[in-house]
Amino acid sequence: MSHALAKKMEPFDEEMRLVDAHCHIQFDGTFTRLEALLVQHPEASVGEIGLDGSRKGAHVAHDIQNEVFVAQLHLAKRMKRPVSVHCVRRYGRVLEGLRKANKTHNEGSPVAPWCLLHGYNGPVEMIGQFVRAGAVFSFGLSLTHTPSPKQIAAVRAVPLNALLLETDSPDNRSCTEPADMAAVAKCVAEVRDMSESELKALVWDTSVTFFGIATEHDEV
Ligand SMILES: [Zn+2]
Repeated sequence: MSHALAKKMEPFDEEMRLVDAHCHIQFDGTFTRLEALLVQHPEASVGEIGLDGSRKGAHVAHDIQNEVFVAQLHLAKRMKRPVSVHCVRRYGRVLEGLRKANKTHNEGSPVAPWCLLHGYNGPVEMIGQFVRAGAVFSFGLSLTHTPSPKQIAAVRAVPLNALLLETDSPDNRSCTEPADMAAVAKCVAEVRDMSESELKALVWDTSVTFFGIATEHDEV
């Protein structure tokens, strides 16, 4: 997301923080405000939500994080919205949450992609399980700096139709702009041994389908 866009979304973001702050103190299992905002913005996704097992995430107890996360997943499923998920060291719980939400809302019918695991840094062996639970995966600028062998292996293992690129901006450390995605695309294309133009076309198609974005082409 560009800084300009992030700035434009501040009031919306503020509502999310209010919800989160409320959840931190007391969570009654409902998201009245969030639900109202989703009704008001039919094009909106839910996120980012998720579980954080790092020191940074330690100020919210794990059981509360999980309870809120599961409720958000169910809300998103009920309202047919994609979710953007942040996860640090809690991939097992995230997978469990996705599977439960699928079981409740899909009732045995096939699961379309609905969960973006952003900045995926989980085990490579879990990628197949996540795909079956409806996940796509995004990778950002950290790939172009000092990628770990694990990150590279994940980029290689993700199915091509489940691969996205992300700015993850603004966060604490970087001032990433959409233009920086060219460097990420170059890096991912190299790892996947394909041309940049081929990769960009794939990523575009996956993004449009995943987020349900109407393009000019669709409208003709
Ligand atoms: Zn995140």
